[in-house]
Amino acid sequence: MSFFDARRELVVAGARLHQRGLVAGRQGNLSLRLREGIAITAAGRNKGKLQPADIVLLDPADGRVLRGSAPASSESALHLAVYRARPDLRAVAHAHPPQATGFAAAGLGLENGILPEVEAELGGCPLAPFGRPGGEELADSIRGLILSHDVLLLANHGALAASAESLDHAVDRMEQLESAAQTLLAARLLGGGKRPGNW
Ligand SMILES: [Zn+2]
Repeated sequence: MSFFDARRELVVAGARLHQRGLVAGRQGNLSLRLREGIAITAAGRNKGKLQPADIVLLDPADGRVLRGSAPASSESALHLAVYRARPDLRAVAHAHPPQATGFAAAGLGLENGILPEVEAELGGCPLAPFGRPGGEELADSIRGLILSHDVLLLANHGALAASAESLDHAVDRMEQLESAAQTLLAARLLGGGKRPGNW
């Protein structure tokens, strides 16, 4: 995929994140791995109003901006850490889905063993330890867990969903994560999720 086509995909994915309420204001960031570099959203943009010029291309080795005139996302280090750790992954979405972030703020990953379909699609969604947003500390916080998980909660912050398939799939996963968090929260209010005995 060319950088030109990637810009369009990032704009569409940003609109999806915003429409679904998975980011508020200027939160969140999205990226796509291309042969020529990492296409990523620029810093401080509302994801519901992205323009192609709000996407920049980064050098995966050092994070330098190769194409585009805007400053790259403040979470570029987080995205680059994912791609370096996992050569199979093509796309990364970082958002602050309200209910899933509630789990992350309460010091919880998503509970395993209760929603089989969710686990089949997302795998387990453990909680990465807190890392100060906007730099290497957050990138460091996911380095271990990302080796064996595509979807993570970020303590006191939000969530990260990656895909080996497409950016659209990473956003699908973010959407499904938030839906699962809503269901598990409801189950907690109703006495707690029950594990199916024969699963
Ligand atoms: Zn964030």
